Amino acid sequence: MNISDSEVAVSILKKNNYSFTDNPERADVILVNTCSVRENAEVRVRGRLNAFKPLKKKKPKLIVGVIGCMAERMKETLFKEEAVVNMIAGPDAYRNLPGLLEKAVNTADAIDTDLSDHETYSDIIPHRTGNKLSAFISIMRGCNNYCSYCIVPYVRGKERSRDYRSIIREVEHLVDQGYSEVVLLGQNVNSYYWRDKEIVSFTRLLEMVAEVSPDLRVRFTTSHPKDMPDETLEVIAKYDNICKHIHLPLQSGSTRILDMMNRKYSREMYVDRVRAIREIVPGCGLTTDVFTGFCSETAEDHQQTLSLMEWAEYDFAYMFKYSERPGTYAAKYLKDDVPEKVKIQRLEEIIRLQKMLSEESNKRDINKTFEVLVEGRSKKSENQLSGRTSNNKVVVFPKQDYNPGDIIKVKITDYTSATLIGH
Ligand code: SAH
Ligand code: SF4
Repeated sequence: MNISDSEVAVSILKKNNYSFTDNPERADVILVNTCSVRENAEVRVRGRLNAFKPLKKKKPKLIVGVIGCMAERMKETLFKEEAVVNMIAGPDAYRNLPGLLEKAVNTADAIDTDLSDHETYSDIIPHRTGNKLSAFISIMRGCNNYCSYCIVPYVRGKERSRDYRSIIREVEHLVDQGYSEVVLLGQNVNSYYWRDKEIVSFTRLLEMVAEVSPDLRVRFTTSHPKDMPDETLEVIAKYDNICKHIHLPLQSGSTRILDMMNRKYSREMYVDRVRAIREIVPGCGLTTDVFTGFCSETAEDHQQTLSLMEWAEYDFAYMFKYSERPGTYAAKYLKDDVPEKVKIQRLEEIIRLQKMLSEESNKRDINKTFEVLVEGRSKKSENQLSGRTSNNKVVVFPKQDYNPGDIIKVKITDYTSATLIGH
């Protein structure tokens, strides 16, 4: 999401005669795009800002701006706490970046943290700096779910969907430019909803994107388990070019904890959705987000998370420990009462379990043949390429005459917990 937002911010500045460099030494303006979802993310931003202090000393006119969620959360207090910062822009204020920068040059500090009910940056073509193979497309912004632990609705504002026509235009443009894959982005893509003369649901949008070109791979993230109807799964199954991978955050395997999290599903409802995925989209990759140590989590709740992970046989998981975020329902009304030591110990347990599950999942792929989109050189060797299967597993194989962008068949011969190896 941050990469995608940065691409929008750079595009707006380029339109206003700024040019882009990724070398901080050469820059007159440095923008740090930020995340507030866990405290750790903010600690890293502060470290990064610190690292710019010597540059600012050398070049007093340098503008250091903080953009995104941390800007939104902290507002002008950031000026006080991080003296190197002289511009602040929240996630809905990127159109105002040229004005803010001018202000920061001519006066002292510049700030815009207004949130919007309608901003989707639908007319901005992002400045994509990636591999020219895979592009993020933001299809909605904000979130209305108010999970009790989560800062997102406060810093990214109300949920709003982007006009489907501008999404389709962008997809067509990317296909013309030779892109092989698009990733549709939103905090909860399944609740995408556009209405004027016609109503376009996420399921319909997915079909329309898939129909732009049969050679374009289509991915999407994130799906909320409460909004994953069979009809969406049927569309995923129907189109060969919709990747067979669903990221379905679990958060916890205990219904009591899920209730306190305000996730709006129970353990049983989650299990029912995984069953539906397995039945309707056979062979579908399944990944998740989980975090340990939410308010009042007992050893029994934790066991329920472990047992559900084992049952679901996830291919991969993002795993965290609970981090209380100021202003959320949990921060106001629930007690962050699981000791840090216990949170860490439980996190280590779920990481250990997931490593085993990932290994088992990769082991099941031995001798299977997958279609792989070649993405580039493998990190470890010049003679190896790396790419991904439809179900989002990374595969490494000998380079031979293949090039990034090719879609080739790879037979799996070996694996680690993170990677498939084949030829
Ligand atoms: N919109 C997505 C995810 C947004 S944040 C969804 O609902 O799934 C990404 C992940 O960070 C979440 O799925 C959750 O696992 C984790 N997360 C969010 N807030 C957190 C917090 N306060 N402490 C620890 N992890 C958190
Ligand atoms: Fe946060 Fe919940 Fe919205 Fe995801 S769905 S962004 S976890 S409030």
